Amino acid sequence: MTLEKAKEELVKRYKYIYENAYLIVAPYMYEQTEEEFKKSKEKFGFDKPYIYLKLDYKNDINILFEDFLFTDTPMEESILYETTENKKNNKKYLEKVKNGMQLIEKANEGKDAIMHIKLDHWSILGAVARYIEEQSGDLKNKVNKMKVLDEYFRIGRYKNNGKIYTSGIKPDLHDFDSIVLPKKEKEPRRDRNDIGIKKNKFITTISNSPKFEYNNSIFTEREKQEIYLGYHDELPNDLEINCGIEEEYIETLIETRLRRPENTKPCGEYFIIKENEIFVNPNDRLYRYYQVCPHCGFIVNIPKEILSDCLKQRIEDRCSKDDKLFRKMYLYSELFSLDRLSEKGQKTLLLINNKKN
Ligand SMILES: [Zn+2]
Repeated sequence: MTLEKAKEELVKRYKYIYENAYLIVAPYMYEQTEEEFKKSKEKFGFDKPYIYLKLDYKNDINILFEDFLFTDTPMEESILYETTENKKNNKKYLEKVKNGMQLIEKANEGKDAIMHIKLDHWSILGAVARYIEEQSGDLKNKVNKMKVLDEYFRIGRYKNNGKIYTSGIKPDLHDFDSIVLPKKEKEPRRDRNDIGIKKNKFITTISNSPKFEYNNSIFTEREKQEIYLGYHDELPNDLEINCGIEEEYIETLIETRLRRPENTKPCGEYFIIKENEIFVNPNDRLYRYYQVCPHCGFIVNIPKEILSDCLKQRIEDRCSKDDKLFRKMYLYSELFSLDRLSEKGQKTLLLINNKKN
């Protein structure tokens, strides 16, 4: 198996659990029985039955998870994939999923969003990490499986904010603001002969592959970004545009191009397109979105083709709250440009403005 092929499979599997995790794990949501609750009440002072995702290392589904994430045959041939696809049309199964989701709603009621139980790809990746940690035999392959799992974790940690996250399963210090104490090493509890999925070409190809020094991964940040943007309506955090007049002038239409403020002209430098700095020209349908060049103050058109519908909607919503926004940006553009060209002693207006902020 070539590295390219193995990486392609890994991404495909990541995407599958990203899209289907809740469907796979929701039936494992569990609410304490009356009896269990009584005990917890006496022991820990619980005020209501505890609801949680019951997926510990003893659960047999881990075998299917492991097989799915590490098999050297295509994902579509794995049992987890086949059963999940079949269950998508199974009324009884979907009923179980619904019950699981209702339990989550109940568990999250009145809690801070940060404390909410979420069913997602992390539910599966976390379960598999705990499962492999308990493996006590075939230790060399255990290490290699962890290395492959690290790559799944690294894809999941990507955030499109310019920061490079290097942590795999175990958190690296520089990824987190607060100090994360390493977990105490415990004796693995699974039987020596219970070794899960055995060494195969997929595992060795990924685990033996050299990693990039800058991000500690076999994937580039660009590759991770592509996966991330497939699920998030965001602009790539490093998308640049040139400060220039890009709009076409169409003769048959009147005023197809924004008349820029006086005293401004494009500087030709590149800058990063940022969603929060894009503003709308409410009177223009053709060239509607703009950002002020941070180098010179020129108003640069952001082609609407690069903005998804969801992004455009967010920008429209934000800008519609201020009906003078375009006018302000228009004046700001000229002021910025004039101020930039001023002598040191003349730089007054923007300085006052900046001090206030
Ligand atoms: Zn410029």
